[in-house]
Amino acid sequence: VETTNHRYDVQIGPTTYALFSTVYKDLLTSADRIAIIADEKVAEIHLSSLEASLAIVKNKLVIKTIPAGEACKSIDTYADCQSFLLQQGFTRQSLIIAFGGGACGDLVGFVAATFMRGIRYIHCPTTILAHDSAVGGKTAINMPEGKNMVGAFHQPSAVLFQTGLFSSLPSREIRSGLAELLKHAFISNEEWTMQLLVNESFTNPSEQWLSEELLKGIQVKASIVAEDEFEQSTRKFLNFGHTFGHAVEAACGFGKLSHGESVMIGMIYSLQLSEIMGLTEKTLTEQLIQFANEHEYPLHPIHDFSFDEFMSYMQKDKKMSHGKLNFVLLEGIGQPFVTEVTREQCLRAFQELTTRTE
Ligand code: NAD
Ligand code: ZN
Repeated sequence: VETTNHRYDVQIGPTTYALFSTVYKDLLTSADRIAIIADEKVAEIHLSSLEASLAIVKNKLVIKTIPAGEACKSIDTYADCQSFLLQQGFTRQSLIIAFGGGACGDLVGFVAATFMRGIRYIHCPTTILAHDSAVGGKTAINMPEGKNMVGAFHQPSAVLFQTGLFSSLPSREIRSGLAELLKHAFISNEEWTMQLLVNESFTNPSEQWLSEELLKGIQVKASIVAEDEFEQSTRKFLNFGHTFGHAVEAACGFGKLSHGESVMIGMIYSLQLSEIMGLTEKTLTEQLIQFANEHEYPLHPIHDFSFDEFMSYMQKDKKMSHGKLNFVLLEGIGQPFVTEVTREQCLRAFQELTTRTE
């Protein structure tokens, strides 16, 4: 990944943590102190394998566990981590390793971005979804008023995926992460998208297939981030499926539906909008609905809430500008663009979708 001021590698494979004692030895040894901040559930299953690979810096390593999943993205956990680092004598020369899914990565990234105005950190992501979240330097915590409302851009020094860790992921988390993979395909490449849509073992993937596919997703994200680190233009494309998706996630109550499950519904909705505008074929919307059903992505939330309920959440979206709703739509697969959409168009898409998913 190359941005204006940073360059870092994203490593993915079965024995990636072995690189700590070779490629990343200098990064580790140059730090005066190192903390692993780990999702407690992930730590319980996998911490020993990460710790073993950090034997060369054992004497300066401390471990802090944080609540599992989304619960860690709070002001309380944020403050707790900062106090921990201060009490442990961390300085601007220290290093943090985030060990967990996207939630842990977002929190730890924000801790690193703000501890003494910014220190280095490494992502060791443990979910499929994190192929999206660990790349690109967006960090954040949630506020009672909304998700990801306080954060910073802060790029990691390295990202290391050890693919064997995916083996303990519940099927719901696999489904969630793969929805973001499909998003990367939809905004970049028609042939790849079609390959994914006809893959019968999509939600039952092998480790090898995951490595190869996540690498493609990471490359899409990396090239967009390189072009537009601070989301002034093309980085917005990564929000495909997220305007309606976030509304679904919020309406259901955070944690009830996984992020990727919500994004799947959001992508179907965006295709429905693209179709209404005469940009994409009806068959494409239908194909994605069928795919979602086949792979057991829940679509019932579309029927559980009224249009006005979804609309009230969409109006709080960070992508709103000057009171207007902005959507990422497709002119075709691999051809995303950002456009204003009226309330009437949103309503029509919603009505069509409720009929189609009955
Ligand atoms: P998560 O971090 O909440 O993890 C999901 C669940 O899986 C948790 O209960 C966790 O304990 C568990 N888990 C993690 N790894 C595991 C493993 N290997 N085995 C068993 N269980 C494991 O969820 P996520 O989907 O990875 O990330 C979602 C978060 O990422 C959201 O907060 C979202 O806002 C954020 N996100 C950020 C960006 C970004 O650019 N920064 C992009 C997309 C998403
Ligand atoms: Zn997302």
